[in-house]
Amino acid sequence: MTSLPRPKPDPVRPARRVAAGEHGLRGTLTGEARELRARGRRIIDLGLGDPAAHGISAPPTVEAALRQRLDDTRGYSDEAGHLSVRAAVAEHFRTRRGLPGIGPSDVWLGNGVSELALLTLQALLDPGDEVLVPDPGYPMWSAYTGLCGGIAVPYPCTEADGWRPDLDVLTRLAGPRTRALVVINPVNPTGAVWPPETLGELAGVARAHGLVLFSDEIYDGIRYVPGPHVPLAALAPDLLCLTFGGLSKFCRVPGLRAGWVVACRPPGVARAYLDALTSLAALRLSPNTAGQYAIPAALSAPALRNAAALTAPGGALHEARTAARTAMARQPGLRCSPQEGAFYAFPRLDLPAGVTADDFARRLLRERSVLVVPGGHFGTADALDAHLRLTTLAPPAETTAAFEQIGDLLDEVRSEHAEEGGATAGPASSFP
Ligand code: PLP
Repeated sequence: MTSLPRPKPDPVRPARRVAAGEHGLRGTLTGEARELRARGRRIIDLGLGDPAAHGISAPPTVEAALRQRLDDTRGYSDEAGHLSVRAAVAEHFRTRRGLPGIGPSDVWLGNGVSELALLTLQALLDPGDEVLVPDPGYPMWSAYTGLCGGIAVPYPCTEADGWRPDLDVLTRLAGPRTRALVVINPVNPTGAVWPPETLGELAGVARAHGLVLFSDEIYDGIRYVPGPHVPLAALAPDLLCLTFGGLSKFCRVPGLRAGWVVACRPPGVARAYLDALTSLAALRLSPNTAGQYAIPAALSAPALRNAAALTAPGGALHEARTAARTAMARQPGLRCSPQEGAFYAFPRLDLPAGVTADDFARRLLRERSVLVVPGGHFGTADALDAHLRLTTLAPPAETTAAFEQIGDLLDEVRSEHAEEGGATAGPASSFP
């Protein structure tokens, strides 16, 4: 009898730190959706937060600037980005964000917030250093912390509190190894906008524990609540607050990979750290030059007006959000906190015991051709396993159709479970 040859151990193994940077950023189902599409299936994609993919075009001034500057985009720029572009970002922060001291040397440009988040964490963290990250929150922050050898410590934000942080718990989580506190506002995935009081309290925690604030404000221009966006840095003038933003969301050009980080701080603070950041920025030579040239145009008054119109009645984001709210209100098995900013809905599903949002999302793709991200990808709390994150970017008819599919599948899952004798609330919702 001949025995089958044993498979040889694969000699190429990935670095262990990659496992520490595990994330579900694009969701586990993206690959499967791609294959289904390749086989001709039409998928309603409410997965990735890419406005351009839903045909929401960039402001005309930005498109024009891109075309005009094409010839200038062949070379590298300075390591931190082109001086004139950094000056435009600094001016934006001084005149529109109420941060008077900011100059071009406080600004670093990068290939999206994604690259700058990695560089700024790499420059800060030693192995074992801890970073407080919102839970739920955008998983890039905990993934990069792990990749840099740090430990992401999730601080809970619960639905009962409007997805705002529990300050008592947060304070208890800050310890001797904690170096930084990440804030995302408006929040991906919950759509919450944290008010100035909450931001002030977070600044207080950073102050008490000597933490660097990392404020991811990439959705600052996408709000449905009255009043201007309040930057965290304005409430923490005595601390180093790194404020992140870019063109991927409000300007709808994520493919340009254009972002900035602004170091807001009292004079003289964090010099060595910021030199280390510049040194890491030099290692990648320069950010994408074409993306940089779009930034001054994106921060011009006409482009900002154009962006603001998106969230006003009649605007694409306003209409998609309204369609999502109306459609969710028709589904008794869905409940969703008001979406105050960004372009995501994060509804809770009244799932039968034992069925997770992961299971549900998989069936939703395979049987109903709708792609969403299960809530568990955004944090560690068990409660997230009953949530889905959906973008509110698609035209209203598509958004409505997607929620109808979700409602139908939910009914189907619940009645299957009831037939199997499982504990379920019956056709109506079991939400209190
Ligand atoms: N931060 C948050 C909260 C995000 O949601 C995203 C993308 O979805 C990013 C950062 C990454 O943005 P960028 O395209 O600038 O890398």
